[in-house]
Amino acid sequence: MQKLDDSGVELRGCALLTWRREQLAQGGRPIDLDWLLQMVAGVDWSSLQLMRLDPQRCLQLRVGLDRLGALWRRHLRSREPLQYLAGVCPWRDLNLAVAPGVLIPRQETELVVELAQQLCPGVGPGLWADLGTGSGCLAVALARLWPASAGLAVDCSPEALRQAGLNLDSHGVADRVQPLLGSWWQPLAPWWGALGLVVANPPYIPTAVWDALEPEVKCHEPRQALDGGGDGLGAIREIVAGACQALAPGGWLVLEHHHDQSPPVQQLLQAAGLDLVAAHADLEGTWRFAVARRSLQRPGGASRP
Ligand code: GLN
Repeated sequence: MQKLDDSGVELRGCALLTWRREQLAQGGRPIDLDWLLQMVAGVDWSSLQLMRLDPQRCLQLRVGLDRLGALWRRHLRSREPLQYLAGVCPWRDLNLAVAPGVLIPRQETELVVELAQQLCPGVGPGLWADLGTGSGCLAVALARLWPASAGLAVDCSPEALRQAGLNLDSHGVADRVQPLLGSWWQPLAPWWGALGLVVANPPYIPTAVWDALEPEVKCHEPRQALDGGGDGLGAIREIVAGACQALAPGGWLVLEHHHDQSPPVQQLLQAAGLDLVAAHADLEGTWRFAVARRSLQRPGGASRP
């Protein structure tokens, strides 16, 4: 192994393959170790394949094997998510900074952006909000999708909001999205009735399921972002309850929910007086999302969610 400068090393493929085997002998899944190699050392999947074909080939790593090995051992010992150890999570076409205290963006949530785009084609909804923004994944993606719209990113966790701010900034959209500290609709009071689209990936895991979650999740990710209370619908009820007043007439709500919550969430949306209520599936075919619209006219039009 040859040290290139402060930030990288060069070594032969055979040395890396041997190291990789030694790490996996300690435990863990190959897919996770390869993720670490890619995200921390910059060795992507195709380089790994080329290395197998030609083990004498030299490659450059952004960090040394000592550092990588230390991260891997820490992951095996403490079950800390690799995304926290690497400080980054690839999501859609973005590389988002993540840290303990903020939910790691999930793959299924990527589809919330697709649904939002279908519901608000063209220049977008004018003003949109992301309730429970966490890392800011949805807010960054929506802001990039609609340069002519303004966004509001709400979270009740100062730590999450700080992280969302970093991600909005590093993706060049901080001037178009305002982070707001507070619970669900409350910090949006000045914009009630004017929101053309609201998206949310709220906590929705039923408390009873908590103990069965993987240690990576239950021991390290923020419970506040995951635990939806007894039936998992606590946060969703609060969001639905305010939607009719907070959305603009004709404004859309897009919610992510647990794999088995589609019927009750559809019912809640209908009971709240929203129209065009519909369920959408994730890429595994699970009914994972609910959309609904505030009707175009609303006689009376109360003003408090
Ligand atoms: N989909 C996430 C999980 O299963 C939960 C996200 C959430 O509660 N919003 O870990």
